[in-house]
Amino acid sequence: MKVSVIGTGYVGLVSGTCFAEIGHEVTCIDLDVEKIETLKQGKSPIYEPGLSELIVRNSASKRLHFSTDYASVKEAKCIFLAVGTPASENGEADLTYLFKAAESVAKELSDDAIVVIKSTVPVGSNAEVEKCIGNKTKKRFHLVNNPEFLKEGTAVEDFMRPDRVIIGHHDEYAAKVMKELYAPLVAQGNPIYMMSNLSAEMSKYAANAFLATKISFINEVAHLCDYTGADINEVRQGISSDKRIGSKFLYPGPGYGGSCFPKDVKALFHTAKKNGMDFKIVRATEEVNDAQKIRMLEKMLDYFAGSIEGRIFAFWGTAFKANTDDIRESAAIYLAEAIIKVGGRVHYFDPVAGDNFAKYMQGNSATKNQTQQFSNKYDCLNDCDGLVTMTEWREFRVPDFAEVKNRLKTAAIFDARNLYDTQKILDEGFAYFAIGKRISGNIK
Ligand code: NAD
Repeated sequence: MKVSVIGTGYVGLVSGTCFAEIGHEVTCIDLDVEKIETLKQGKSPIYEPGLSELIVRNSASKRLHFSTDYASVKEAKCIFLAVGTPASENGEADLTYLFKAAESVAKELSDDAIVVIKSTVPVGSNAEVEKCIGNKTKKRFHLVNNPEFLKEGTAVEDFMRPDRVIIGHHDEYAAKVMKELYAPLVAQGNPIYMMSNLSAEMSKYAANAFLATKISFINEVAHLCDYTGADINEVRQGISSDKRIGSKFLYPGPGYGGSCFPKDVKALFHTAKKNGMDFKIVRATEEVNDAQKIRMLEKMLDYFAGSIEGRIFAFWGTAFKANTDDIRESAAIYLAEAIIKVGGRVHYFDPVAGDNFAKYMQGNSATKNQTQQFSNKYDCLNDCDGLVTMTEWREFRVPDFAEVKNRLKTAAIFDARNLYDTQKILDEGFAYFAIGKRISGNIK
């Protein structure tokens, strides 16, 4: 099947490449000339395990093409819109990119093309996009909502073996073609759920808000552990063995980030507000997360008797989670800014997201001269007053603690990812701070 994908970001590029891998002929379209040039040279502009190999293989077999031109839309049976839908000032999803892409697609459509909204869009957006395209073309077209559930870091695997595929539609032809398109990806029996466009749109936000709520919930329990002396690892084991609760998304940390949870939580709250409803749980989820992102600063200030002025902290990791170069809404950004605001500085190392973080920090006058990137995790520690684990990259899990201690000016570890064994760190002679772990002497 001929497929066009508009937007070659984390979702569009992975979707397009994986559709090519299962045999479809795909053209990925983006307005970003540099990105398309990079892709044409067989290189991936993003870090995503396994993706580069698929790009090279499918480009070579002429099933995967890249272009800044929308011409291929004319021949496509399915056109996926996978552009960004970031949060606007008031939290509402900003659909500017989506409508612009929809208008460009409308000009090229052939009769009976299926336009698929892959971007995450608030409930009701399908109808608006349908109207927008309808105003620009006389061609008959079908509109489908197909929210994406891949996770950065395991995006290829998630796309190839989805837990479920959700297809929102309002006509049988589109439903049939979408089932055909996805058939190879659900051959092992994972379900395709057909539903209304409105339910499909809502499902995506409900899923993300629920997962974000789980994270905020466990972070709040961890916070209470800090006061009471209970240990979050023990509590987590105690609750996650209950099948109704499950073990996923119950790891306390520096707060959720990334390009999805923060904006989707905001957008869902906004949708509720527009409908006259106060979505209290979602509001609390965001409030807890905002506090969580800078929780470590409180522990630093406690340890350094109320002031960290002139002190330097070494961040291990800047990506919002492991196995990605994405730093959007990463807790590392918020904690670095908070440290700098009270007179501290930040050194950082990340195996793949360091350059993206550097670009962000350099672009901001408040952080520009207060942060420094390192290309080695140990060099990053020199002259610092504490190691701060911000991302759970594997290479941070079993470091040479003698080397860490040797490099640091102050032997303190602020373990925002709860990576280390408490007793081991104390035995190595560090002051140790984590999220909700019982550490003798640290109980409030
Ligand atoms: P992204 O910012 O990484 O990529 C978007 C791309 O669209 C950019 O390359 C941009 O240049 C391009 N673009 C913008 N306007 C365009 C236009 N008119 N024509 C062609 N290209 C255009 O975004 P993303 O992270 O891939 O997210 C895309 C959507 O998928 C969002 O709605 C997001 O919420 C949703 N989503 C993201 C993830 C994720 O993990 N990143 C997971 C599920 C769903």
